[in-house]
Amino acid sequence: MNSTPISAPISVAWGAATDVGLRRALNEDSFLAAPPLFLVADGMGGHQAGEVASATVIDEFSRLVGRASLTVDDVQASVRQARRRVDALSEGADAAAGTTLAGVGVAEVDGEAHWLAVNLGDSRTYRLIDGVLQQISVDHSVVQELIDAGQLDAATAARDSRRNVITRALGAGSDSEPDYWLFPATEGDRLLICSDGLPTELPDDRIADILRAEPHPQSAADGLVREAVGAGGRDNVTVVVVDALAVTSRNRHDRPAEMLPPTLFEEDGFEDTLPRARVRG
Ligand code: MN
Repeated sequence: MNSTPISAPISVAWGAATDVGLRRALNEDSFLAAPPLFLVADGMGGHQAGEVASATVIDEFSRLVGRASLTVDDVQASVRQARRRVDALSEGADAAAGTTLAGVGVAEVDGEAHWLAVNLGDSRTYRLIDGVLQQISVDHSVVQELIDAGQLDAATAARDSRRNVITRALGAGSDSEPDYWLFPATEGDRLLICSDGLPTELPDDRIADILRAEPHPQSAADGLVREAVGAGGRDNVTVVVVDALAVTSRNRHDRPAEMLPPTLFEEDGFEDTLPRARVRG
């Protein structure tokens, strides 16, 4: 059984699985599943550049493993350092390597256990609470922008030829900041972090069925990856499942996740200059 630092505000159990799928030669996804961080990175760039980029970001964040909890500042500092390292990989190269980054860290706010979610790109974080699946992250993708503009509906989007085109990344010529969400943790929460290879193959209803049916997070992760590969495996697929076994909290909270306003980060040089239409390799 996995273990959690004794002073951690959330006691967690987790599982993780990854598969190259049926169509790709390389698995360019990387993940981190070790308290207080649960992350997925989906690399892009070809000729192993994506694989190295996603592994580099995970390596940078692994420095935070073993802490009881994290702050937004901790995660931002790691994003900055990871970006420097990924950008350095591409010096002198024709095409810039890059990666998505999505997931959650364990945080504490006024003595209460929280999840801190981070997202850049189209890997995703979901939360299963009282049996209901909610998508926490919002994709940075052309298709999501079309949905937001009312020009595409979610069902059609899954088959849209532009579904792999993302608008923010770590590296790949992007200098955009991540989105962050902070929300109270509740005992019984199950979080799912995945690369786009999962929702590309399985609808949310099926993902929710598997998460509800599998009691252990490792069996849930294995089941999700197995079914996504069985459904076509057109992309690499990576899944991390995290359960909150116990939380330090005075009250039961189930208010929805709220995105932290980007103005919070302005002093750190946040620039709203989002490059458009990065094509995944
Ligand atoms: Mn992918």
